[in-house]
Amino acid sequence: MFKAIRIIILLFILLAVGIGAWRDKTRSVEWKRALPVHVFLINGDGSQPVAEYLSSLTVDDFKPVASFMSDEAKRYGRSANASIDLKLEGQIKLLPPEPPHNGSTWDAIIWSLKMRWWVYRNTDIVGPRPQVKLFLLYFDPAKNKMLPHSTGLQEGLIGRVNLFASHDMAKQNNVVIAHEFLHVLGATDHYDRATNLPLFPDGYADPELKPLLPQHFAEIMAGRTPKSPTEAVIPDSLDNVVIGSKTALEINWR
Ligand SMILES: [Zn+2]
Repeated sequence: MFKAIRIIILLFILLAVGIGAWRDKTRSVEWKRALPVHVFLINGDGSQPVAEYLSSLTVDDFKPVASFMSDEAKRYGRSANASIDLKLEGQIKLLPPEPPHNGSTWDAIIWSLKMRWWVYRNTDIVGPRPQVKLFLLYFDPAKNKMLPHSTGLQEGLIGRVNLFASHDMAKQNNVVIAHEFLHVLGATDHYDRATNLPLFPDGYADPELKPLLPQHFAEIMAGRTPKSPTEAVIPDSLDNVVIGSKTALEINWR
């Protein structure tokens, strides 16, 4: 009898969490007001260079992400509400749970629940919902040549982003942050996973350009600027990136 009651209570909690997450997900792209985006910094490899780098960061280092969103919103004829209100919340000492590598759908669901529980335990944000939380994990580029894939979760509006701790790469880091942030809002990738090349037409900044190649800008969810049928380059900064028409549709700007 008690076991049955416990299971019913647990199911009830899961249902409430599910409904809450679904409502946040829908409301995050209603754009009735600028969406609050809370940025947390994490020392990904526990090293001294990363610790020093993190202490040098200020909210100004992430302002280009907010400017990118508001400039692009304007281009789609949207008001200032269709933008973000970015806040730097400081550092978190604990590492968030690692996403499964090539795991099953079940592994992904379990990780998503663990991640949301971790966020609930380690952040304390008040104010009206929905709110996006981005966890930026920084690594020393001298010791890490490659970084694991970043993840944006629409359920819970959470991003877990891996970045290099280097002022030289800060502008490119903002491209990665904007990409993962847009995943959180429901945007999908517009590049070929096998070749990393942007998909035509959705991954092209200007699919009407004549001649089509080389393109001059990158589409944010393609992540690269197509230069020839077999070559695409990573943009230096968000100044060379746009939100394409498919991505705009996915985040309810059109
Ligand atoms: Zn992606």
